[in-house]
Order: sequence, then C-alpha cells, then structure tokens
Amino acid sequence: MTGPKHSCGVVGMSAAHDVVNHIHKALNIIQHRGQESAGIAAYRNGVITTVKNSGLVNVALTKESMAGLSGESGIGHVRYSQLVTKGVVNAQPISLETTHGSIAIAHNGDITNFEELKKKYLAQGWSFSTDSDSEILALLFSKNMSQTDDPIRALRMMMSEVDGAYSLTVMVNERVFGVRDPYGFRPLCLGELEEGYILVSESAALDSMKGTFIRDIMPGEIIEIMPDRFKSYPLSTNHPKAHCMFEWVYFARPDSIIDGKEVYDVRKRVGMILARESPANADIVMPVPDSGRAHALGFSIGSGLQYEEGFMKNRFVERTFILPDQKQRERAVSMKMNPIRSTVKDRRVVIVDDSIVRGTTLKKLVKILRDAGAKEVHVRVGCPPVIAPCYYGVDMRTRDQFIANSYSVSEIRDIIGADSLAYISIDGLVEAIDFPENDLCLACVNSKYPTNIPGEKHRFQSTLRTDFAQ
Ligand code: SF4
Repeated sequence: MTGPKHSCGVVGMSAAHDVVNHIHKALNIIQHRGQESAGIAAYRNGVITTVKNSGLVNVALTKESMAGLSGESGIGHVRYSQLVTKGVVNAQPISLETTHGSIAIAHNGDITNFEELKKKYLAQGWSFSTDSDSEILALLFSKNMSQTDDPIRALRMMMSEVDGAYSLTVMVNERVFGVRDPYGFRPLCLGELEEGYILVSESAALDSMKGTFIRDIMPGEIIEIMPDRFKSYPLSTNHPKAHCMFEWVYFARPDSIIDGKEVYDVRKRVGMILARESPANADIVMPVPDSGRAHALGFSIGSGLQYEEGFMKNRFVERTFILPDQKQRERAVSMKMNPIRSTVKDRRVVIVDDSIVRGTTLKKLVKILRDAGAKEVHVRVGCPPVIAPCYYGVDMRTRDQFIANSYSVSEIRDIIGADSLAYISIDGLVEAIDFPENDLCLACVNSKYPTNIPGEKHRFQSTLRTDFAQ
C-alpha cells in the first residue's frame, strides 16, 4: 500500500512439450512484480513468436491473443515501467531476427550505464526502437552473437559492457538461458517441473506449479536449461554482492525463498527486532494489510502484544498507485481499508507497515483508526527511512518524493498524526535478513551505492568490466 512500486518479473522454460501455458501460469503467480504489461515469446519450427500487451497477465495474454503461440522453449515477462514511457512498445520480451537466428530477452532490473551505451552505439549507426534500457541488452547480445556464434561468450561480452541490475531470461532459437548480474540485485531461481526445467524470478511460482525448487541462480552465473538437464557457467572470480534488501522487506511474495532466506521469515524477524528496538505501550498490534502482515506478527511475538486484524481490505477497489492524483488515491484508501471497530475502539493500537515512501497512505490509515475510536495509534515501520533513489529497477527515482528527506522522524509522526513513530534501524534490518551487510544493497536507506553512479557515493569499486574481459 505505502511502499514503492514493484519492478519486473521474468520466466524461462525448456521442456519436451509446449511450455506456453506453464509460462502463463508462472507469470500469473509473479504478477505482483509488474502489472503494466505481460508477454511471452516461444520458439517453434525455426521461429520465435512473441505476444505482448498492456495490462495484467490475464488481460494481456488471452486465449485469443495467444492463439498459435506454442513451442517447447519460451520466456515470459511482467513489467512495471520505471524510467521509460509506458505502453506496449516497451513491453517485453524483446525479440530480434538476426543472421544467426532468433533472439528474445526478458529483463528485470535497470542498466545504469544505458544512456552512455546508447550514445556510443547511436554514434556507430545503431537505431533503437524502444526507449527501454532492456533493448541495449538485446542489441549487444545480438552483436556479440554475430562475432562469436557462441551464446555463452556473447552473454559474457554483453555483461562486460553493462552495469547495474539484470536478472534475465534469454532465448537463442530453442536454447534458453538464465543470467543474473554479478551483484545479484534481483532474484532468479531454477526449478524442475514434471515436463522440464524452469527459471523464474520467485520460487513461490514453483510451489504453485507443483515444481521443485532447485536453487537460486548465483550472482554472475549463466545457466542453460534443457528439457532434461541444466548446465551452469558460474562466474570464475569473486565479485562484490549487493542483493536488494527491498525484495525481502516488500517486493517479493512472503512464500518465496530468495538467496536461501525465506521472505516470510525475514519479515517476521524484522517485526521482532522492531519490537526490541522500539517497543510501544499499547494493547494490540495490527498490520497494514497485506504487506505488513508478517512484520506485525513478528512485532506481536517480540513484544507479547496481542495480534489483531484491524483493517478489512476490499480487494476489488482500483489499485491506488495507478490513480492519477493524490486526492483520488486518498479516497481509494478509505474505500479499500475499512476498520474493524470492535478491534480498535478504545484501544492503544500499534500499526506495522513495511515501509514509508511518501507517508500519505499511512496518514489516512491513522485517521481511519482514530475515527474508529482508537485511543492511541503507534506506527512501526519495517524498513529504515528511505532517503535516496534507486537506480537498480525500483520506482523510487527522485529524492523529493521521500518524506524522510524533508522531515525528521518526529515531524513525520506529527504529519501522519501518530502518537509515536519508529523505523527499524539499518543494523536491525541487516540482522533480520541475516546476510553480511556488504552483500546487501542498502543504497536507498544509506546512500552508499554498490556501483558507480555519477553524483552518488559508492561503497566499492566495480570490478565488473575487468572480471569479464575474455
Ligand atoms: S537502492 Fe534500495 S530498492 Fe534499489 S536495489 Fe538497492 S536496496 Fe533495492
């Protein structure tokens, strides 16, 4: 509700039978990662056919629009646009016909040196048909294929030119590859279905498809999947890692496992640590549904306060983030969230949310609780104050959109009308994720960027380019 918008999700599959329905199903399960467009590319009889449209998976990819789409190899994509103009022109997968065959790419993340590369290749006479940074990946890969005719070398050469975040599924004719950038910003995992092997952004898709989770793709690894086996091409050198902390805090489904850590567990630990760091003198604890639920449960366990559901969510009200103005968004919050009066009336309530970006929704929720008779409202937040933009695929672009940049914690408490407000500390968050701090990206909460971003502080020199030179 109050967090940033999601990034994207990717799928890839190779099987002895048609994969299109499986990819469609997997895209539905990772729909939360992007609701603006969806697409599938499938290979059959020497041709990659791509169907992509605006809208949710079931709107963009209908029986009619997918008529004739079939193949034993395929990739898929759900998208929320970040930098670029919205619309089907930027929907993915991106597919190209080249002299060495058909190519398709689906990308989750942001290429941080896209503008630099675009300028360089425009000067060499290249043309771009979209304004998506993902197109540069397809064009570079295609160029490298024409030089090497070897997908692994071509992908490595592409990786040596691009910086930033990319979890990819790639198809070269019938061959399907998964690629994760060397920092491991965005998730990508490998699973096995009865019919073949699958690559997908989140492991929750495998459970729902009765598949078996095999493992996460390692940062910097390229993996090729075939109907009966897979082959790994790991990165041969040590490279700094920077897993996005927001995947655990907010983006990913709670039932996914990312880099060995179950998202639900991490969120529960966040709540427990919040209760230890910032206890509240209250009667009950309740979540902002749905994303704050595991955090609130953890707070309840950590504090001993009774867990209650204090809001009933109407799932059929239009999603608030797609509404064009603030007033409409606030109205939609009231329609969407109804208080359970008997839970909150005359009680001191702790409400737990996953994160605060602008604070406007939370302000509305605090008012709804007060109007329903809550005696006190204490707000606890499962992410440290967001103060810096994300350049790695999350829609948090400008500093002025973050309330924590303009106001202190006590000022924000007053703005949202709470009796108290506390965020988890950065140390507490790292403890909850249970990774070494240096293996995480925390840039939007500590302003230290894992890669070189002009005008921003970076925490270590990128070794990307030299590592990959071949
Ligand atoms: S800046 Fe924040 S949202 Fe972006 S990758 Fe890093 S931790 Fe994730």
